[in-house]
Amino acid sequence: MALEIIESCVNCYACEPLCPNEAIYQAAPHFLIDPVKCTECIGDFEVAQCASICPIEGAILDELGAELNPPGSLTGISLEMLAKYQAAVEATYQAALEAKSA
Ligand code: SF4
Ligand code: SF4
Repeated sequence: MALEIIESCVNCYACEPLCPNEAIYQAAPHFLIDPVKCTECIGDFEVAQCASICPIEGAILDELGAELNPPGSLTGISLEMLAKYQAAVEATYQAALEAKSA
């Protein structure tokens, strides 16, 4: 029973001091959680402290591999809107590439 930090972690240091069990440590290429020390904050806090402060959606997973802060949960941007904006950015990028090569 432990959480996991994955590669989208940006090494912001925010979670490390909040862990009641000193389970989070700096590593390369990103912070990690010692599964032996992590208790998922049960008995100390109502919510996992690391996930409660992490600014990156999807950077921390539960023991089943589910994202504690799934896409849209922190930004408030729906998946549909996100896909729409990404498509617009991609279209603008492609248009710029084509204009450059013309
Ligand atoms: S869930 Fe709690 S105990 Fe586990 S790493 Fe995060 S802050 Fe530490
Ligand atoms: S708060 Fe999130 S992004 Fe920052 S170091 Fe911890 S896991 Fe990485």
